[in-house]
This record gives sequence, C-alpha cells and structure tokens, in this order.
Amino acid sequence: MSWQDQLPAVRGKLLKDELLGPFTWFRVGGPADVIFLPEDAEDLAAFLKALDPAVPVTPIGVGSNTLVRDGGVDGVVIRLGKAFAKVESRSDNRIFAGSAVLDAILAREAGKAGIAGLEFYRGVPGSIGGALVMNAGCYGSETKDVLVEAYAVTRSGEQITLSNADLEYSYRKSARAAREQLIFTGALFEGRPDEPSAIEARMAEITERREKTQPIREKTGGSTFKNPPGHSSWKLVDDAGWRGKPFGGAMFSPLHSNFLINTGEATAADLEGLGEAVRADVKSKFGVELEWEIKRIGKPA
Ligand SMILES: Cc1cc2nc3c(=O)[nH]c(=O)nc-3n(C[C@H](O)[C@H](O)[C@H](O)COP(=O)(O)OP(=O)(O)OC[C@H]3O[C@@H](n4cnc5c(N)ncnc54)[C@H](O)[C@@H]3O)c2cc1C
Repeated sequence: MSWQDQLPAVRGKLLKDELLGPFTWFRVGGPADVIFLPEDAEDLAAFLKALDPAVPVTPIGVGSNTLVRDGGVDGVVIRLGKAFAKVESRSDNRIFAGSAVLDAILAREAGKAGIAGLEFYRGVPGSIGGALVMNAGCYGSETKDVLVEAYAVTRSGEQITLSNADLEYSYRKSARAAREQLIFTGALFEGRPDEPSAIEARMAEITERREKTQPIREKTGGSTFKNPPGHSSWKLVDDAGWRGKPFGGAMFSPLHSNFLINTGEATAADLEGLGEAVRADVKSKFGVELEWEIKRIGKPA
C-alpha cells in the first residue's frame, strides 16, 4: 500500500491528484499527490504528527509568488481556508490575522481600527502565510517592521510561537522558514495610532501607484528576480532586451520588465525557461547573477 492509501484521518478535506494551477496566479502546473485543506490548527497539527515523516509537505498561500512545475508536486500540499481567515484588532495598536487572510484585507482592517503602518500590505496581493515566509513588503516597509510574533505548526505537528527575531528576516526571506518546514497559521502585528481617513488616503495612493506601474491583472508572480546589490532587476532585464519579447506563451511584461507573465497558453517550462534564459543572458552581458524571487516548486513534466 502506498502512503496515499494510509493518510491520517482528518476533519478537513483531502483531495487527490488535483491540479495546482488554479491555486496560483500563473495558472500553470501539474497536480499534487494530495492537497490537504485542514479544518483548523488542531486538525493540521494532528495530521502532521500522524503523517509518515518521509512524505514531503509544501504549504501554499494564494500562489502569487509561486510557479508550480508541469510535473506537479510530490507529497502533500497544504492550503489553509476559512478557519484561518480571521482578522481581530487588539489593544495597544495590535491586530491578529490568520494565515489565509489576504494582505490587502489586513491593511484595510488595520486602517479601520486606526492602526497605521500596515498600509504597504495594500500593495501585496498574497496571503499572510506567504508574507511571513517572504518578508513581503513594498515602498520601504516590510513584514519585519510590523510583526510581533507568528504562530506555526512544525512538520512533526507541534504548535509553536515565533518572535520576530526567531524568523531571522532579511530581504524577502525568513532564514528560519527556509530551514524548517513550518506551516504558519497566523500572526500578531503592531502599528501606531492614526486617523482611519489618513490611513485610507495612503492606501488609495498605493493602489493608484500599483495600477499604473504593474501588470496586476495578468497571470504573473510579482517580482521575478530579487534586486542584486547595487542593481535593479527590471533594468538588467530591460537592458538585455527582454522586455515584451515572447518566449512560448511567456514574456517579461512590457509594463514592468521584472514581471514574468503567462500571456495565455504558457506552460511552467516556458515560464521557467524564459527566466533561466534571461539569467544566463544578463550574466554574460553584465556579469550580474540574478536570483529568483519567485518560488518554483515541483518537478518538470
Ligand atoms: C502583481 C503582483 C505584485 C506583487 N507585489 C509584491 C510586492 O510589492 N512586495 C512583495 O513582497 N511581494 C509582491 N508580490 C509577491 C507575492 O504577492 C508575495 O510574495 C506574497 O507574500 C506571497 O503570498 P502568497 O500567499 O501568494 O504565497 P505563495 O505564493 O502561495 O507562497 C509563497 C511562499 O510562501 C510559502 N507559504 C505560503 N503560505 C504559507 C503558510 N501558511 N505557511 C508556511 N509557508 C507558506 C510557500 O510555501 C512559498 O514558499 C507580488 C505578486 C504579484 C502577483
């Protein structure tokens, strides 16, 4: 009997051989052996405790930073739903958000509660789970600046609390999350007091700026490459001549040349292939190594 036939009993849902493309912004990629949609944190912890430790586990949020390869993902993919979508303002300018809450919803709710400092989340289309792993941020602010603590379940099913320092944040990275298989279930944030109308006005500015400068209605994954020290990735891609140049069904956006887009019929191989071609070209033309910011998961077809 395979491990898929001996899955632990759960209260949530287990889906077998379901395509992952529809769970991501790029809309490409093969199936997961199993997708687990836990009912709540206890269900998640009990499942992980009982699951064969050799089975790989991959959490996904809303897939706005993830490219799933065409051959799909081995093991169990974990997607958090309704039970993890709570937002609750607390005293002392603090606010709790479950990991399935969209960043923009946290920004909006913080604004309504008169908590300033989380406006930047209006510009990030991911979920809190993704923001905790990616140290998501924009316009000079990032998750590290507003996070008090995060709640997670370990691969062995233990529920833990991590302080901001425990997450070892740097630019678009938590070293702790990269090292350990943590599933974040929620987090506590802290801002500073301000008038809700002033906060709302700052968020409206962010929305306007995004609409003008990023292909936010395309099938994309946000910034494709991290900015190498002393360089802008968009400029390197542009100077190497890749802005708007089709490659299968993939292209670097004519609007923002660090945004890789699926123009309609791309495979994951087209998208990743274009990214790799650009990396090699930039390296040979300018001697600069571009590092992927987009997470690529799974195996080729
Ligand atoms: C149009 C566009 C604009 C963007 N602009 C920005 C920007 O300005 N700033 C910025 O930082 N990012 C930006 N992004 C990228 C993306 O929105 C962020 O990285 C976001 O934080 C990813 O969240 P997600 O829920 O989509 O994560 P996913 O893409 O689903 O996952 C990203 C990583 O987080 C992990 N993960 C997700 N949920 C959990 C969880 N609950 N527990 C443990 N691990 C988890 C995944 O395993 C994966 O490694 C943009 C993306 C798009 C499409």
